[in-house]
Amino acid sequence: KPIAGVKGSFSERTFIAVKPDGVQRGLVAKVIARFEERGYKLVGLKAIVPSKELAEEHYGDLKSKPFFGGLVDYMTNGKAPVVAMVWEGKDVIRQGRVMIGATNPLDAAPGTIRNSYCQVIGRNIVHGSDSFESAEKEISLWFGKAGELIDWTSANEQWILSDN
Ligand code: GDP
Ligand code: MG
Repeated sequence: KPIAGVKGSFSERTFIAVKPDGVQRGLVAKVIARFEERGYKLVGLKAIVPSKELAEEHYGDLKSKPFFGGLVDYMTNGKAPVVAMVWEGKDVIRQGRVMIGATNPLDAAPGTIRNSYCQVIGRNIVHGSDSFESAEKEISLWFGKAGELIDWTSANEQWILSDN
């Protein structure tokens, strides 16, 4: 099965991370609760201080931005880990982005994670893949080792995903 699941299916997967500011502020459980309570399935989870190489690859599309160096340092300096996760479910890539809210917390809709817990773009506590292609890249980057993702059946699945 593809690492990001099957696009558009019940088994689509996305990469979600609580960034070091969110961990430092004790917001890990709140972020997890949003995804758990919506019925998404947790298939990977770890706390990790990423290497510079990993962070630079993860944010590769932002390499030319003036804030890139600061962003990589804040992700990798070990003042707090990143809590990296893979969540699975229907449309979870796009829904994850909606639940997280706009990159600038001041533009994030009420009820979103960033609106609820953040004020500035540089400390917006959470990451979520922005497309199927990004999810594939990010899941393999952060959870590329065999056995790091768990295929399991939720006993709730028929109550969450049946539409008849
Ligand atoms: P995201 O996908 O919503 O996280 O946003 P982007 O992919 O555009 O940017 C990745 C991350 O870089 C953001 O979540 C911020 O942590 C950081 N970032 C983006 N734009 C800025 C900026 O203008 N200033 C600073 N300091 N950080 C930024
Ligand atoms: Mg992004």
